[in-house]
Amino acid sequence: MPDKAELIVQCPSCKKPVKWTASSKFKPFCSERCRLIDLGEWASERHVIQGEELTSDVFSETAHLPLDRD
Ligand SMILES: [Zn+2]
Repeated sequence: MPDKAELIVQCPSCKKPVKWTASSKFKPFCSERCRLIDLGEWASERHVIQGEELTSDVFSETAHLPLDRD
Protein backbone atom coordinates (compact mmCIF):
# COMPACT_ATOMS: atom_id res chain seq x y z
CA MET A 1 0.00 0.00 0.00
CA PRO A 2 1.49 3.34 -1.00
CA ASP A 3 1.89 5.83 1.82
CA LYS A 4 0.39 8.63 -0.21
CA ALA A 5 -2.05 8.61 -3.06
CA GLU A 6 -0.97 10.32 -6.22
CA LEU A 7 -3.49 12.86 -7.30
CA ILE A 8 -3.50 13.94 -10.93
CA VAL A 9 -5.27 17.10 -11.96
CA GLN A 10 -5.74 18.64 -15.37
CA CYS A 11 -3.94 21.87 -16.08
CA PRO A 12 -6.72 24.42 -16.69
CA SER A 13 -4.69 26.10 -19.42
CA CYS A 14 -3.17 23.33 -21.55
CA LYS A 15 -5.24 20.34 -20.25
CA LYS A 16 -2.08 18.42 -19.48
CA PRO A 17 -2.20 16.01 -16.54
CA VAL A 18 -0.41 17.53 -13.55
CA LYS A 19 0.72 15.72 -10.43
CA TRP A 20 -0.77 17.39 -7.38
CA THR A 21 2.12 17.38 -4.95
CA ALA A 22 3.43 19.66 -2.25
CA SER A 23 6.35 20.49 -4.47
CA SER A 24 4.29 21.67 -7.43
CA LYS A 25 4.36 25.41 -7.06
CA PHE A 26 1.88 26.24 -9.77
CA LYS A 27 -0.93 23.82 -9.04
CA PRO A 28 -3.43 23.29 -10.44
CA PHE A 29 -1.33 24.49 -13.40
CA CYS A 30 1.59 22.58 -14.85
CA SER A 31 3.83 25.62 -15.00
CA GLU A 32 4.03 29.32 -14.26
CA ARG A 33 3.38 29.99 -17.92
CA CYS A 34 0.02 28.23 -17.84
CA ARG A 35 -0.88 29.98 -14.61
CA LEU A 36 -0.24 33.36 -16.22
CA ILE A 37 -2.22 32.38 -19.32
CA ASP A 38 -5.21 31.54 -17.17
CA LEU A 39 -4.96 34.74 -15.17
CA GLY A 40 -4.96 36.61 -18.48
CA GLU A 41 -8.10 34.79 -19.59
CA TRP A 42 -9.92 35.76 -16.44
CA ALA A 43 -9.46 39.37 -17.44
CA SER A 44 -10.74 38.72 -20.95
CA GLU A 45 -14.32 38.69 -22.21
CA ARG A 46 -14.52 34.89 -22.33
CA HIS A 47 -14.83 34.44 -18.59
CA VAL A 48 -17.10 37.47 -18.18
CA ILE A 49 -19.58 36.04 -20.69
CA GLN A 50 -19.57 32.64 -18.96
CA GLY A 51 -20.28 34.32 -15.63
CA GLU A 52 -23.17 36.29 -17.08
CA GLU A 53 -24.74 33.20 -18.59
CA LEU A 54 -24.60 31.40 -15.27
CA THR A 55 -26.13 34.33 -13.42
CA SER A 56 -29.02 34.73 -15.87
CA ASP A 57 -29.74 30.98 -15.73
CA VAL A 58 -30.04 31.06 -11.97
CA PHE A 59 -32.07 34.25 -12.13
CA SER A 60 -34.67 32.93 -14.59
CA GLU A 61 -35.04 29.70 -12.59
CA THR A 62 -35.74 31.52 -9.35
CA ALA A 63 -37.99 34.00 -11.17
CA HIS A 64 -40.48 31.41 -12.42
CA LEU A 65 -40.43 29.24 -9.29
CA PRO A 66 -43.17 31.10 -7.38
CA LEU A 67 -45.45 31.00 -10.46
CA ASP A 68 -45.21 27.19 -10.64
CA ARG A 69 -46.17 26.81 -6.99
CA ASP A 70 -49.33 28.85 -7.10
ZN1 LIG B 1 -0.33 23.67 -18.52
